[in-house]
Formats: sequence, C-alpha cells, structure tokens
Amino acid sequence: MITKNDEVQIEITAMSTDGNGVGHIEGFAVFVPYTAVGDILLIKIVKVLKNYAFGIIQQILTPAKGRIENDCDVYTKCGGCSFRHVDYQSELEYKGKFVEDNFRKIGGITVPVSNTMPSPQQSGYRNKAQYPVAKIDGKVIIGFFAKRSHRAYECMNCPLQPEFFSGILKIIKDFIEEKNVSVYDETTHKGLIRHIYIRYAHRTQQVMICIVANGNGLQYNDLLISRLTQVYPQIKTVILNINKQKNNVILGEQNIVLYGDGIITDIMCGLEVELSPLSFYQVNTAAAESLYRMAEKLADFQGNEVLIDLYCGTGTIGLSMAGKVKQLIGVEIVPDAIKNAEQNAVKAGISNAQFLCDDAGGAAISLSEQGIKPDVVIVDPPRKGCSDDVIEAIAKMAPQKVIMISCNSATAARDCKALCEKGYK
Ligand code: SAH
Repeated sequence: MITKNDEVQIEITAMSTDGNGVGHIEGFAVFVPYTAVGDILLIKIVKVLKNYAFGIIQQILTPAKGRIENDCDVYTKCGGCSFRHVDYQSELEYKGKFVEDNFRKIGGITVPVSNTMPSPQQSGYRNKAQYPVAKIDGKVIIGFFAKRSHRAYECMNCPLQPEFFSGILKIIKDFIEEKNVSVYDETTHKGLIRHIYIRYAHRTQQVMICIVANGNGLQYNDLLISRLTQVYPQIKTVILNINKQKNNVILGEQNIVLYGDGIITDIMCGLEVELSPLSFYQVNTAAAESLYRMAEKLADFQGNEVLIDLYCGTGTIGLSMAGKVKQLIGVEIVPDAIKNAEQNAVKAGISNAQFLCDDAGGAAISLSEQGIKPDVVIVDPPRKGCSDDVIEAIAKMAPQKVIMISCNSATAARDCKALCEKGYK
C-alpha cells in the first residue's frame, strides 16, 4: 500500500495521453510528470487516489534513452509544452502511441498507426501567440498563465514563437508602463489591457497585432503604432479587440482597426490566404501544408468529385484542392472566416467553390436534404469533435470517402467509432 510522502523507486513504462509518465508500484499506477519511457527514478508520492497516484521526481537514477536537458526556463511552470525533456524522435513516437491507444480504447478500433510526420521546423514555428497581460506588485507582466491556473508569469521569449515577437512585446510593455495604461484584473473586472495577440504570416512576413481590451479605445494608440511600425515595418495592421466579458475566452467579437486594414495575407499551399483576427488558421503553417497534402493524397481525386469541407475556417483545405474537383462546398460558423474564404477563392480565381456560414451539423443535414451527394467529405472539427448531426448527415449523404482531420485523437476515435457504426470502415 503506498501512501503520501513515500519515497519509492519506479520505472516509467508508458505515457498517459496528457503527457505524464506512468509506472507501477505493487500493481498500482503512478503518474509522474516530466518523465520518459525507460526512466528509472526515485520519486516522492504526492497524491494517492482510489485507483492511481501521483509522484514527483526526486532523483533520476537511470535516464531513459531520448531524455534530454530541457532548454526552457519556464517549462515546468507554463504548461504549454509537455515534451521538452525528451528528444523530438521520442515525442513523435509518444504521439503516435497516443493515437493508437485512443483509437483502441475509445474507438474500439485497432489499427496500425503510421509514423508521426515531423514538423518541418521545431522551434519558432508558431504563427500565433496570445499573451495575457497582468500587473503584479505594481509591475506590468506579459507572459502566460501558469499551468491550470490564472496566475500570470512573465515570459516574452517562448522558443516556439518567432523570436521577434519578444521585441514587439517589449515595445508594448514599455508603452503600458510609460503611459500608465491600466491592466485588466480578473478578480475585479477592472482595467483595460487583457491580452496581446500577435499573428505572423511566415511566408509573406506580414504581422497582425491585436490588443485585447476591456474597453472601447486605447489612448495614445498613434504613438504606440508609430513606435511599433518604426522598428517592425512588417506590421501591416493593428487592431483593438473589445472583450468586456467576465469569462476566460480570450477574444471578444468586436474589432476596431487602429492601423492598416484589419487583415494580413499569408501563402499556404500556393494560395493567398487572407486572415482576420477571429479566423482560425493552422498554427504551424509548414506542418499544415504537409497535413493538407496527406489529405489530398488520401482523397485521390479524379476530377469529377463533389467535395464538402466541414469546419473549413478560411477555406484553406478545400481551396487547396479545388482545382482537382468538380465542386467544393465549405461550411464554417465564424462569419469573418467565411468572408476570408470567399475572398481567398476570388484571389485564387477559383469559381467552383461555395461557402456557407452555418453550424456544420445543421448545414450538413440541410445539404443532405437538398440531395447533395458528395463523393468526399473532409471534416476538421475543433477539439470537441464532430456533432452527432454531422455524423448523421454524413451517413445520409454516404460519400465514398470521409477524411477526418483532428487535433484531438480522443474525440476523433469516438467519431470514427460512430462512423463505423454507420457502415464505414
Ligand atoms: N479547416 C480549417 C479550420 C479548422 S479549425 C483549417 O484547417 O484551417 C475548426 C474550425 O471549425 C474553426 O474555424 C471553427 O471556427 C469552426 N467551428 C467550430 N464549431 C463549428 C460548428 N459548430 N460548425 C461549423 N464550424 C465550426
């Protein structure tokens, strides 16, 4: 029987899907964060529950193959990364295993999972960052919220972000301090600046800066903009996003354009992609291109197909394939993203595409009722996966192929199970 504060030796034999290593002591599962499969450790038990326990590393007795020195100062505080203590090859293997496990356990589907495709770039690859702004002991802080909390930590040089983001943040921070701009406080719901959101189009180098504010205006914004654009002329637009909600959703729905025209343009799969602040855009552009190419390869279009792209965002997936099909219908719930998609089609001279601003489930049902018979349906839902309506409508429309792109293998496994129950293999 293990109890709290025990110091025990353990070998890590697997990873849980949330990134903790797992080992067993007398048959009892113990989760230990920041460990790797193959580690032999001395751990201290910090929490014991009915069926499992948690431990923390006291000493690494024998490191796992693939264990490396973490290179980020805030790694264990931030919670943004789970695998900075292992090499990239191990991370890829763990992730493949998560998919395999989720499909088996949740989906009841035992399938061989191919090797995980690596990201073309492993640092500085992100094209979007959202930094909370806070004031602690009179000091302005721009950084991140600590893991599972709302305590802000200063960090302006996350290695996953393009390096120059830190220079932009420094200018904004100095401005806030100099002009004594108030900073939002979650507990009192007072103060102005909530988040700084930066989006970077890697291919065109265009930058969008969004200042998320609990108010309708920002005094001296001309000064801030001139300071920013003097140093970073690639900043094409600066936006004030108004968020007066008392929740932890980052962006509000209303944008005031302070500089430029409120959008930036990137290039993806050879397409010009217009981006508004509220539009979703795959956060790793080069990896997304590999992903879309894989989807296209799986679809194996002959030229005569009707393609439905559900949860289409700015239309990038369908538009990158529009030249290979007869007709494309994209569905997306965010109006600005649909406007971007329509504009992206125009810019690319694509005339066989149509975009619907609607809930994917409702739209799919109504398309099926209109007798639309797609040959291929691509779904790319948010983490919660497809709605039941989407699964129902797909079954009704009976496309030859369904291609599921997912950022969450647990809900993907559930949705694939539902599709299998409808007769798909
Ligand atoms: N396929 C796009 C976007 C994928 S992200 C791309 O690769 O860029 C998922 C998208 O689903 C987001 O754009 C989100 O706004 C949209 N979405 C979320 N819930 C939705 C719903 N109920 N109906 C339609 N779209 C939805």
